[in-house]
Amino acid sequence: MSAKFLIDTSYFIVSMLFILGLKSMSSPVTARRGIVWAGLGMVLATMVTFAWPGMGNFALMVIALVVGGGAAWWSGKVVKMTDMPQMVAIYNGMGGGAAAAIAAVEFAKGDMHGMVVTALAALGALIGAVSFSGSCIAFAKLQGIMKKTFRLPAQNAVNVILSAITLLMGTVIVLSGHPTALLLVMFFMLALALGAIITMPIGGADMPVVISLFNAFTGLAVGFEGFVLANPALIIAGIVVGAAGSLLTQLMAKAMNRSLTNILFNPITGEAQGSGAGIIGTMKEVTALDAAAMMRYAHKVLIVPGYGMAVAQAQHKVWEMAKLLEEAGVEVKFAIHPVAGRMPGHMNVLLAEAGVPYDKIYDLEEINAEFPQADVVLVIGANDVVNPAARIDKSSPIYGMPILNADQAQNVIVIKRGKGAGYSGIENSLFYAENTHLLYGNAQQAVNEVIRNIKEISS
Ligand code: NAP
Repeated sequence: MSAKFLIDTSYFIVSMLFILGLKSMSSPVTARRGIVWAGLGMVLATMVTFAWPGMGNFALMVIALVVGGGAAWWSGKVVKMTDMPQMVAIYNGMGGGAAAAIAAVEFAKGDMHGMVVTALAALGALIGAVSFSGSCIAFAKLQGIMKKTFRLPAQNAVNVILSAITLLMGTVIVLSGHPTALLLVMFFMLALALGAIITMPIGGADMPVVISLFNAFTGLAVGFEGFVLANPALIIAGIVVGAAGSLLTQLMAKAMNRSLTNILFNPITGEAQGSGAGIIGTMKEVTALDAAAMMRYAHKVLIVPGYGMAVAQAQHKVWEMAKLLEEAGVEVKFAIHPVAGRMPGHMNVLLAEAGVPYDKIYDLEEINAEFPQADVVLVIGANDVVNPAARIDKSSPIYGMPILNADQAQNVIVIKRGKGAGYSGIENSLFYAENTHLLYGNAQQAVNEVIRNIKEISS
């Protein structure tokens, strides 16, 4: 059996593991298994890479693996669930940066074969560099390192002109065959600047979509560089990541009813939009005892979790409360908005971790018709995903975003700490509605208080 045959077979297995892993991640039931499959694929791909003919410095590769693997292991262990989007952003950016670095090395070697390979290298370099710098900005924003949203005076024109110049330089590189070092440095600098400048104005609710878009970019860049290196694993992994990232971007944009062009060229900036003018009513407080009694004597309670439940890590308490209500004969269902929290599937993962059975968790399309029949809707740390402005206020930046129709229930109880706005910074008329009462406090403590009161009522 030749070494080439063994390597090719291994790459085939690696590809299957990646695809199987991704497929399994599409459901919370099989997600963990999917991560193991994809991880195994990565380990096998790394091992085969060592056997790749003409592979360079073995010691350097081992050092890189140990340092990179160690850092990833540590950060994966310590990262908070709510900080996951920025971690995804920075790791994804590294992938784009690595693809751009491969192109830089190949250009520096100067032995690129043919115009097609050179063009793919340049394209991969451009997309990879944009993804790298853009993801770094996204990380800095989500981590709170960069607090302001910067928008240039003629932002969109700058984006277009800068993209055109960078593309032109890439074309010159491809046509010249042997570009000068200066041309290459300028090309990479411009590509990096482009990623940063495009991302700087984007804030608030649009950021996770942009991170996902960069994820797709990274996949594409890695795939292109795979062609340059004639490495099938890179090509397949890149295409799989590129396709998955594109689909995710599309799904998120659809769930927020925002087109990609709108997100990139007309972003919601995160600064408070919609002062709440026109909202009538007052915020009415409710005690934990009253909230407990309303739910304990209800026939049907729908629970809408949001980002606040994730921050407070209240999912275990929420499930404990739901079980108590069920024991008292109340029908309890969980209503999940596709972009509740800070990443797709955020709430499903948290509820699954707390042990909530999957048949109690309903998607927006499945549950929305049931809100008018619910005696009580308990909104726990959710805001934008239940904001009726998305349905009725044409001037609202989130107009058109599908929402959970919590406002149509008989009674609404909202757990939140104070008057804080949602991710998009928009005021929410639901909180002022006649049938809404607010239970102020940290989600975990508030639910704990409700549990204590339900137990007292039931005893
Ligand atoms: P949200 O709009 O960000 O609202 C969270 C609410 O939780 C706030 O009103 C806040 O009010 C409250 N809160 C914060 N910490 C709390 C705590 N410790 N205890 C109790 N309450 C707390 O959340 P969401 O309704 O889940 O909406 C998600 C947002 O992210 C949407 O704008 C969506 O478009 C955006 N987004 C998500 C994704 C995704 O994939 N998930 C993707 C793109 C965009 P107080 O400060 O008063 O407590």
